[in-house]
Amino acid sequence: MRSISLYVHVPFCRRRCSYCTFYHVPHIADFESRFVDALLTELEAAVREIDSAFQFPTVFFGGGTPSVLNPESLDRIFNAMDPYLKRGAEITFETNPEDVTSALLDDLKARGVNRLSLGVQSMDVKGLRRLGRCTPKVNDRAMGLAVSHFDNVSFDLLLGIPDVSPEALEGTLECVLVYMPQHFSVYCLEPGGVMQRDVEGFFDAVDPERSADEYLHVCAALREERYGHYEVSNFAMPGYASEHNRVYWCGADYIGIGPGAHSFLDGERFCNVPSIEQYVAGTQETRGGTRRYEGRSEEERILEGAMLGLRTSAGLSLERLSCERSVVDDLVIRRLARFEADRLVLTDRGFLLLDEILLRITRAA
Ligand code: SF4
Repeated sequence: MRSISLYVHVPFCRRRCSYCTFYHVPHIADFESRFVDALLTELEAAVREIDSAFQFPTVFFGGGTPSVLNPESLDRIFNAMDPYLKRGAEITFETNPEDVTSALLDDLKARGVNRLSLGVQSMDVKGLRRLGRCTPKVNDRAMGLAVSHFDNVSFDLLLGIPDVSPEALEGTLECVLVYMPQHFSVYCLEPGGVMQRDVEGFFDAVDPERSADEYLHVCAALREERYGHYEVSNFAMPGYASEHNRVYWCGADYIGIGPGAHSFLDGERFCNVPSIEQYVAGTQETRGGTRRYEGRSEEERILEGAMLGLRTSAGLSLERLSCERSVVDDLVIRRLARFEADRLVLTDRGFLLLDEILLRITRAA
């Protein structure tokens, strides 16, 4: 039986965070059912297109903010995906601390969610204000509820937040480590790069050097608490690395539904139109998805293959490197990488320079 994972993009947010560059729209309750109609139409169409028996080994609800969905919408989505779920599938649900209540978590658990992701970001009051997020008190309550309801919990943290001192970052680490979640996802704010849509000039105040220092500090602190650093931004206690994330990094098949979703099937990439209006209208019109093929050149495929390997602690097989040996040796001498058996594995410093390293090892090929 073929394994194909599922990503469900829920684009609604109650308000906009200052640093946000993800596709999202304000949550309008009256529109929710039309969005779910489109989502289920897309799922049906995606299932029709797969010509062999398959199961979802992992499902990930991301956003936006999936925790804004009402119970009726959740009923419809879970019922639709239920026939394809593999027994024991990892089902992750992203939540916003403000939405977290005991009732919501009981409900998610009863539906089969077995991994909860919580957008904590920081425990510093100034930092959270700067991000346009909730207060530390709300975060604290949500963290307590999360770990008391689920035994597989991930907290998201943000680094490089303007106005957050090293002491305040230390305070955040102390607060979140009280709960000992099984997993952390840690992202650095960077001017430019991935987060480019700087609507309010938020990123003008972001200092990339400070983000990098904080990253190295957090990597060391989490390692000390015995979290394994298994990917650039991800840390887990033994046995708790995200199965869904692994699907992305090892090049396994997944389908994404929702306006901001991407899919990877049979070695090819597809993406949806990041516009809820076009998404809803498009799925009605075609009774299918709005998925578009994302062609890649041979060079892009090579770069992507190297990137997927190097971003994880499994590293990249030396056999797959066709650059001069001196290029790789230089990375090791500069402590940006190390050899593990026949693989090249990046260090924390190397992860910070992943893009530059990729260009060096593929350019020299
Ligand atoms: S909750 Fe996430 S998607 Fe929504 S505005 Fe904040 S960062 Fe963006």
